[in-house]
Amino acid sequence: MTILKKKKMDKKQLKEFQELLEKEKKELEEKISDLNLKEKELAIKMPDFSASEDSSIEADEIEELNNLLSLRFVWENDLASINEALERIKKGTYGVCEECGGLIEIARLKIEPAAKICAKCLKKKNSASV
Ligand SMILES: [Zn+2]
Repeated sequence: MTILKKKKMDKKQLKEFQELLEKEKKELEEKISDLNLKEKELAIKMPDFSASEDSSIEADEIEELNNLLSLRFVWENDLASINEALERIKKGTYGVCEECGGLIEIARLKIEPAAKICAKCLKKKNSASV
């Protein structure tokens, strides 16, 4: 059996991932600013419910606001990982697994360009946390 030598990512590939990440970053930032607007709208519609004991506040709207908040949490996390990935591109450590120092599979990066660890380490982590 021959062991395939892992090749370091070439510049062209790196550039592609950088563009991908920047595109995702832009989309996320837009989504988050939309979310901010929606949140404001909802907050205005909703009376100050800490001040009033009014229980007629729409449960739907509270739920919607909660949904927005959890969405924001997810998106802000995504945005942070994208920024980290872009930072790693600058430093030249992009595509290197944080756990084992090996190279992250290109196929994996294509699905998740902000990935920090390789598929093997991810599997290990996932099985450890179950
Ligand atoms: Zn690894």
